[in-house]
This record gives sequence, structure tokens and C-alpha cells, in this order.
Amino acid sequence: MKKWIAPRDQHVECKKPVPYLDQKTAVFDAVVVGSGAGGATAAYVLVNYGLKVLLLDAGRMLHPPKDFLTHTMPWELPFRGQGKPGEYDGLWKINEYTAHLYTNPRKETYDSIDNFHWTRLRAVGGRTNTWGRCCFRHGPLDFKSKTRQGYADDWPIDYEDIEPYYDKVERLVGIVGNKDNYYNMPDGVYCGPPHRLRCGEVLLMERAKKVGVPVLHERTAVLSVPYDGRPACHYCGECGNGCDVRARFSSLDVLIPKLLKQPNFTLRTNSAVYQVLTNDEGLARGVSFYDSLSQQYNEVSARTVVLAASTVESGRILLNSKSRQHPNGLGNSSGLIGHYLMDTTKSGPVMGVMPLMRNRQRVDEDGAGGGHVTIPRFNYRRKNSYYGGYFLLGGTGFGRGISSSGGASTWGAALKKQIRQDYGATLSFRGYGERLADFNNYFEIDPSNKDRFGIPQVRFHVSTSDNDIKMMDDAYGWIEEVMRACDAEILPYKKRVEPMGDATHEAGACRMGTDAKTSVLNPFCQLHDVKNLFVTDASCFVTSPGTHGITTWIMALSWRASDHLAEQMKKGEL
Ligand SMILES: Cc1cc2nc3c(=O)[nH]c(=O)nc-3n(C[C@H](O)[C@H](O)[C@H](O)COP(=O)(O)OP(=O)(O)OC[C@H]3O[C@@H](n4cnc5c(N)ncnc54)[C@H](O)[C@@H]3O)c2cc1C
Ligand code: SF4
Repeated sequence: MKKWIAPRDQHVECKKPVPYLDQKTAVFDAVVVGSGAGGATAAYVLVNYGLKVLLLDAGRMLHPPKDFLTHTMPWELPFRGQGKPGEYDGLWKINEYTAHLYTNPRKETYDSIDNFHWTRLRAVGGRTNTWGRCCFRHGPLDFKSKTRQGYADDWPIDYEDIEPYYDKVERLVGIVGNKDNYYNMPDGVYCGPPHRLRCGEVLLMERAKKVGVPVLHERTAVLSVPYDGRPACHYCGECGNGCDVRARFSSLDVLIPKLLKQPNFTLRTNSAVYQVLTNDEGLARGVSFYDSLSQQYNEVSARTVVLAASTVESGRILLNSKSRQHPNGLGNSSGLIGHYLMDTTKSGPVMGVMPLMRNRQRVDEDGAGGGHVTIPRFNYRRKNSYYGGYFLLGGTGFGRGISSSGGASTWGAALKKQIRQDYGATLSFRGYGERLADFNNYFEIDPSNKDRFGIPQVRFHVSTSDNDIKMMDDAYGWIEEVMRACDAEILPYKKRVEPMGDATHEAGACRMGTDAKTSVLNPFCQLHDVKNLFVTDASCFVTSPGTHGITTWIMALSWRASDHLAEQMKKGEL
């Protein structure tokens, strides 16, 4: 087969013919589906074992200088960054800076769109192109909620199983942070010091301590020093729109360039996987996919298949892969694929204005995108009316736009005065907490809806639980306490729990376990029912604890699963 590598400036509108994979000759050791955090990690590990790997992604290749509007000012955009009215306003994450990256749920819709906010970014690198970059490790308690905390289920693995993989991943990603020795949130391997605090963050750290609330330096995948051939952050503060200099980690910028140098690696973009194909014994023999450029279906064969298309997409591929041997969907003898769907429980925003900070001198404190501090889970030794814990994400400083001036609550001259006075004086928070795994939160194939590639779509059945409400109620209480400690005037707000999916940490639809009747994957993310098929995104999660850092956790699990795959292949077991 002729090797085809997508040029960096390949765009979806490109009409150039794309070479076909020749089915007869294109037998890969592994085909990996999805080039985001989980998939690119799997491809990286397998390629380094010398395996012949094909990485398929439904999206296009991105060209950061063209595709990321990092340094575009709002006034340079037709709708000042907000986007055309009616186009995507009111829809999570999408604005004029990112509309060309995300899938617009109004255009590619699914049932129960208001109940589940499903964030899809189809492009090489997936959602690591726009992610929030917070990378705290989960600790020993998080793997053993049932035995050590008295609720939910235990993972079949311990922190010690994943610790060496966290080390490897953090070295690859490039994380900066502080060694805090904080309870149940192990320190990581840091390539540089944490980012310097903004003025408001210094105040927050001092004042929160007085009411017993810890504030830690953010552990983030944004470089504070040059690392691995990438430059340190130049503090434009716009990471959420994509970084154009590779100072923050994305699989597009860090893993894909390493992979493209390897002769045993092939990337194929614009290839939406429909089904995992099986042979007479019910084992995986390859995948079928829709080539969105040629608008044709193709098949490719491989000895093993690794799905990492993100939690919902991987589950959807499995449920769509029905066959004689797998009538309920591939690997679904337990009937659990799609069930126990989780996402971090997320509160609405609370904003305050700190009078001490009003009318202060304008300084450049944009910093790296997002906060340089975080309030980690701190309810361990308290008596709580709910299970689990949460972290608080805060924002302060001089940012782009009037939201950092306390919002537009008036008009004309009064508005201008308010903006000048409050710019840089605001403090905002949201709570993000553990959502308990519940069989009744699930997705399934919707028989009456197909996506634009003609592939059957999913529909969601999810709801907010009492535990979510009580936990976020506690979070609101502590947010107010911290605000008061900072002497902030709290602006009117409404307590709410955001729809599931809004935190973009969906997980758990193919939970791991040792019993094939009560779990879909084994402790190495390998299907109980199909030994040459692995799922290496967050599908395997048993719980989703209230610590910020799902992505490096996914990558660590993916690395461990890929090691296992390669070792089993070496022994001839696959
Ligand atoms: C705004 C935002 C902020 C976030 N903040 C943080 C944070 O601070 N910390 C943190 O840890 N996490 C954060 N996340 C979550 C993080 O982005 C995800 O955890 C991570 O990207 C998930 O990795 P993944 O590989 O499972 O999926 P993705 O990164 O979404 O990658 C999936 C890939 O699969 C491809 N794909 C999908 N379907 C198919 C198909 N049928 N065939 C072929 N390819 C397919 C997609 O094109 C995509 O490239 C954030 C996410 C967002 C959007
Ligand atoms: S703040 Fe730093 S990491 Fe973020 S986009 Fe700007 S340069 Fe890149």
C-alpha cells in the first residue's frame, strides 16, 4: 500500500483525491481510532514497540497558524467573537473563535440535546486542541471508593498500578506545577515551576487559608520553561482558542509530529469509523469507515483494534457493530455498553467584585489561559450530606472582554464607568464534583437518527441526582465563604447544576472490572468478549472523582493498555 501522510495544511474543503488503503495489502498490527488524548497515546506507545500502526481520525488535519485564532482580537471578527446570532449562541463552548473546530450540535443534532451537552471536536488532536490543561493526579482513595470511602464501586486496579504511567505521561506532556504534598492528590513529574500568580490570586491564596480552604498552584500542561523543543508560554492567555506556538500540550502538536517521523506509522484523516469488523470466531479483523472527502465507505484490516474516539463515540462504534456472534453490539454480552455514563457535576458561575482591586493600575497579567491556582477537594475530613467531593475553579485578573469587569449590568456612560472601575477586580468560581456512576444514566443507538456520514447516532437518557444537587449546594456555600473572605461583593446569581456533559469529562460507558457479567473491559482496557479489541479513552472509568485531571489519567491508562497489547502480541497471544 502506498503510504499517505496528511499534509499539515490539509483542510476538509480540499478536493485533492485521497489515496485509498488497499484492503488486500493493508494489514496493520493495530488500527487506532481517534487521535485525541487516548488514541494518540496508544499509537505512540505501539509505534515505539515497532508495530505497524494505522491511526484513523474522523476529522481533518489542523494547521495551527491558520486554524487557531489565538491572537485575533474580538474587533477583528464580524461578530466580535460572539458569533452570528442564532448560529450557535447559547451552545456550550462554541464561539466565533472555535466554531470551525467544534461540531455544532444544532447542525449535527441528537435526541435529548438539552439534557446532555455533548462536546465533539473532530480534528487531529481532538479536544486536546482546546482543553483546559489542568493535570492533577488522582490518588489511592479514588481507586477504592467503596472499600475506603463507603460508596460507589472500586476500580480493579490501584494507584500503584497507574503511578509509573502517570510519570511517563507527564514527561511526555510537559506539566508545570508545585510539589504540594497534598492529601490524596500525589505530586507529579514537573518540567518547570508553576506560573506566577496574578494579583487577585495572591489575595485569594492568603484570604482563603484563613477560612480553612486550601489554594494550590495550578498543575498545568502549559510550559513555564522551554521543553522538548517547544517554547515557554508567552502569556497571551488564549489557550482555549488553540495555541499557535505549541507552548501547551495537544496531541496534534506533541504526539503527532513524533509519530509522523516513524516509518511504521500511517495517519489517515477524514475517516469516520462506523463499525469494528469481526471474523467467524467473533474476533476483531479491522474496521469500516466513511471517507468524508471521497464520500465512500472503506474497510481496513488489522490484527488488533484500539478504540479511542472519546467515551460516547467509542461506545457508539461498539453498539453499531452488531454481528451474528455479537447481537447486542460488539463485546456487549453484559448489556452494559453505554451505561454508567458519568461527567463531572458542574455548578453555574458565581461572580464577585473585590473593592480592594477596583481602579487599580492596568498591568499585563493575562498569563497562561485559565487560573494559575485551583481550590482542590477539601471536604475529606468533614461530615457531608452527600457522597464524594469537588474542586473549585476560579478566575480573576485582566482578561479579554468585559466579562472581567463584572458583566454588563447597565448602559451608556454608566456602563463605561463600571467597566473602567471593575476591570481586573472580579473573582469568579464554579464548582466541579464527582458524579456517582448510575446504571440509569446511559446512551443507546437512536434508530431514527443518522449523522452526516450516514452512521446511526446515539440518544441520551440522563438526569441530575440528589447527590449532585446537595454537593453543588455545598460548593455554592463555600464559594460564598471564600468570596466573603476576599471582601468580594457577590453579584446576584442563580444556583443550578449544569446539564450532564457540560464539564466535558464524560466517562464510564464501558466500565472496567474483573467479572465479564458486571463490566465490559478487563483491567487492561481489553474487551472481556473480544480479546484483540481495546478501548483506551475514558470509557473504562469506574468512578469520576472530584479532582481536576481526567486527560492525563486517560493517557496513563491508555499507555498501560498499549503496553499490555504489545506484550501479548509479542507472546503470540493476540
Ligand atoms: C473546553 C474544554 C476544557 C477541558 N479542560 C480539561 C482540563 O482542564 N483537564 C482535563 O484533564 N481535561 C479537560 N478537558 C477534557 C479533555 O479534552 C478530554 O478529557 C480529552 O480530550 C479526552 O480524550 P479522548 O481521546 O477520549 O477524546 P478526544 O480528545 O475528544 O479525541 C477523540 C478523537 O476521536 C476522533 N473521532 C471521533 N469519532 C470518531 C470516529 N467515529 N472515527 C474516527 N475518529 C473519531 C475525533 O475526531 C477526535 O480526534 C477539557 C475539554 C474541553 C473541550
Ligand atoms: S497563553 Fe501560552 S500556552 Fe496559551 S495560547 Fe498563549 S502562548 Fe499558548
